[in-house]
Amino acid sequence: MSTATKQQDSVPAPHHGLGGLHGVDEFRRVDVVVVGSGVSGSAAAMTAARRGAKVALLEKQAAFGGSAALSAGMFWTAPSVDAYRRRIPLGNVELGSRLVGDYAEALAELRAAGVWVAEEPKRDVMTFGIGYSTDIHGILAWCRDQVLAAGGETTAGAVVTELTRNGGTVTGVLVRTADGRRVRYEAGAVVLASGGFQGDRAELTRSIGPNADRLVLRSNPGSVGDGLRLAREAGSGGTTAMSTFYGHLLPYPVRNFETAHYLPYSQYYSGSTVLVNLQGRRFADETDGDELLNQAVTFQPQARGILIFDEFVRSTEVLEEPFPGLGSIDRLGIAIEAGGQHAVAKTLPELVDMVAGWGVDRGQLAHTLDRYAELAGHGGGTADGVPVSASARAPQDGPFYALMVQPSITFTFGGIRTNARGEALDDDGVAVPGLFAAGADIGGLSNYGYAGGLAPGYITGRWAGTSAADRAAAFVRNESGVVVAYQPGSERNAQ
Ligand SMILES: Cc1cc2nc3c(=O)[nH]c(=O)nc-3n(C[C@H](O)[C@H](O)[C@H](O)COP(=O)(O)OP(=O)(O)OC[C@H]3O[C@@H](n4cnc5c(N)ncnc54)[C@H](O)[C@@H]3O)c2cc1C
Repeated sequence: MSTATKQQDSVPAPHHGLGGLHGVDEFRRVDVVVVGSGVSGSAAAMTAARRGAKVALLEKQAAFGGSAALSAGMFWTAPSVDAYRRRIPLGNVELGSRLVGDYAEALAELRAAGVWVAEEPKRDVMTFGIGYSTDIHGILAWCRDQVLAAGGETTAGAVVTELTRNGGTVTGVLVRTADGRRVRYEAGAVVLASGGFQGDRAELTRSIGPNADRLVLRSNPGSVGDGLRLAREAGSGGTTAMSTFYGHLLPYPVRNFETAHYLPYSQYYSGSTVLVNLQGRRFADETDGDELLNQAVTFQPQARGILIFDEFVRSTEVLEEPFPGLGSIDRLGIAIEAGGQHAVAKTLPELVDMVAGWGVDRGQLAHTLDRYAELAGHGGGTADGVPVSASARAPQDGPFYALMVQPSITFTFGGIRTNARGEALDDDGVAVPGLFAAGADIGGLSNYGYAGGLAPGYITGRWAGTSAADRAAAFVRNESGVVVAYQPGSERNAQ
């Protein structure tokens, strides 16, 4: 795959002056523009600033931080390249290997910055990962401080609406500010870090199919696919993984769903239940874990599932904190309070009767549970074409519980095609000059299997920030700040 940069030797000087092509109210000149202030944009901006770039970190919402600011702060990814390959066989191994390789350095950087990072790791995060609890708000604030310390700006309420281009080269962005003004930023490099396309229903339906309309949005509201749209307009291509995404199962129905509900409503323990669809059939190996089951439920009738479990699961996994620091809460009790359809019965046949009252085929459900019990605890196997894991445990201790669930979407796994330098690539694998991307905007690092959100966002942000600062540093300007030449450094050519 070629990743040569088009027009490296001669980049035309960008248009300048007010009221040019776009009739803007203000013109600003920086080295690097970063679109989005989540963990990836913040890390890209911080990294570029620490390499000497004057950075504009632009956030469309009134507050900084995106989904990262709503997150649980677990900074995790695959513990090794082999583990990455096993869990995410469809993932982009070039990106995955570099991600795993950079993880220790990223943690060391955060610790050196004085941001709180837990001393002890948590293992088996999302069934296989390694991670550390962090002060995510501290990370985001430290990144912004670095931008300001280097003479840059961090601006909220600034929506990046367009990329400016000269020929095939990205030369900056157009911004609509909170008070309706249009500002044009000229920059040597633009990093797209808008957080994915989970808020773009049309793109989701194209990628996932009609049940995409049933996905509950469990994300910051600003990630509506701006990065992917802007990248496509500039000639960058898309990736694999377009139909796969991260989220967690939620109760069905829920009376309302606000950001404060995102963590407590998530049914992280679903991997310890028997999961059936509205026909009473299993369709996935439950031990795959909630973030994979969440995707599998999406493709079931009406995008709904039913978790069936016993008192043992209710008194252990349901209450346990999925990550250190989240606290132990009764996720079933909260789901019921939220409006989730549920049933409780002393015996399993009684529970089956109650669930049959929801329109589920009684005979099929009883058969599914019988077959599951035959195989679980006896080395596993395949029941009606669906694997039962060797570690599966059948419901056996009353009372028994059933909870109706629905899938949610936190961020999309497909997106802008990039390499491990964060360069946005066209469909031929050639870098679009001046354009970089990071975090949930890039595609293929996770693909059905999930490699983490915060650590991959932070690390891919560092890649893009490094490359963007290096590109911006290669522009030679005259005394008025106008670009007169582009001389990429020898270290960049050698990469
Ligand atoms: C409840 C919850 C818990 C989570 N917990 C964890 C966890 O513990 N560990 C983990 O690894 N991951 C977790 N995640 C996922 C993690 O938060 C995301 O993977 C990560 O934040 C993605 O980073 P990002 O920078 O790509 O996007 P985001 O952090 O979402 O930031 C994108 C930003 O770009 C802005 N933007 C979009 N378009 C524009 C535009 N045109 N102009 C300007 N700004 C724009 C958006 O408003 C947003 O602020 C969690 C997510 C949620 C919602």
